Amino acid sequence: MSHATTSADLLRQNVALDSFNTLRLPARAAWFAAVDNVDGLRAILDDPRIQGLPRLVIGGGSNLVLTGDFPGLVLHVAFHGRTRVQEDAEAFYIRAGGGENWHDFVRWTLEMGWPGLENLSLIPGTVGAAPVQNIGAYGLEMAEYFYSLRAYDLETGKTVGFDKRDCAFGYRDSFFKQAGKGRYLIAAVTFRLPKKWKPVTGYVDVSRELEAQGIAAPTPLQLSDAVIAVRRRKLPDPAEIGNAGSFFKNPVVSAEDHARLAAAHPGLPSYPQADGRMKLAAGWLIEQAGWKGRRLGPVGCYEKQALVLVNHGGATGADVLAASVAVRLDVRARFGVDLEAEPVFVGSA
Ligand code: NAP
Repeated sequence: MSHATTSADLLRQNVALDSFNTLRLPARAAWFAAVDNVDGLRAILDDPRIQGLPRLVIGGGSNLVLTGDFPGLVLHVAFHGRTRVQEDAEAFYIRAGGGENWHDFVRWTLEMGWPGLENLSLIPGTVGAAPVQNIGAYGLEMAEYFYSLRAYDLETGKTVGFDKRDCAFGYRDSFFKQAGKGRYLIAAVTFRLPKKWKPVTGYVDVSRELEAQGIAAPTPLQLSDAVIAVRRRKLPDPAEIGNAGSFFKNPVVSAEDHARLAAAHPGLPSYPQADGRMKLAAGWLIEQAGWKGRRLGPVGCYEKQALVLVNHGGATGADVLAASVAVRLDVRARFGVDLEAEPVFVGSA
């Protein structure tokens, strides 16, 4: 006899979230459910036991700082599947479930002969989380190849489609971090990968890696391999040491502020923006402020890349918060620049 999914099958109480956040911070969810289909999700949201409680949607938990137990319902996105949905003269349209691992998805597209996402290789997290902060690396942002997504509106209970414009992508930013924050569960994302491929090799780490390997005209897989090699050298593997990737956004300052800073700090790396402002490298500012490899309690700046905060073992969300505030204060004191955290802080501490 078939048995319809009920929320009683899916909802769990008092669940440890340690393995659902890559900083490996200890926290518990009052209620927890892994969801892999809309009917199951509806059943959960109708359950009388969780009405009125706050909700938190998590994917890989790689951009999350849990500062305490979560008193509501955590929805772990487990929508799977990846497929080519369409092809026209110019592009392939590739869809993946929100719960798919991002890196595995990228490698699969490359192996299938649909290049474009190679610079975003090895970024931790899931496909569904990628549009939330418009992940980017080595001169490429996900928004460039984003086509559309399907999300579940937790307020209205309806499934909604978003095209690129609806998502309001910005630098590590989107509608889902702003007005739409906390409201949607991203079930599937479609990418438009142009058949005419152009490698993005402008970032010095990547071009040096290709040069070292003697590759002048890389294939998409070779470019992906080069990005992987660079990332492995510089960035901590969350499977080995807890971290949430870059902890601070690169600040963008006015041309006047940049001129003042550059005069006072020779060697200041900066990159002109389309609007005339200048992007600074947060990692460099933090390193100059003396934080590379330095610790405050169990949390520190990674010794090979100061922009990454790492949990050396036993840290709580409060420890991460304390270290991030200390770094921000020192950078502000030395450069007069305010750093903004990239991960989302959630919890009660
Ligand atoms: P890096 O090469 O040490 O460079 C420092 C910063 O300078 C980067 O953040 C990058 O800004 C900027 N930059 C470098 N070359 C540039 C160029 N040719 N044109 C414009 N801007 C340039 O950086 P990294 O820390 O090793 O990271 C490498 C890439 O991976 C960066 O794109 C970074 O954003 C990305 N990444 C992201 C995360 C994350 O959690 N979000 C974690 C690790 C790495 P942009 O950040 O704007 O590219």
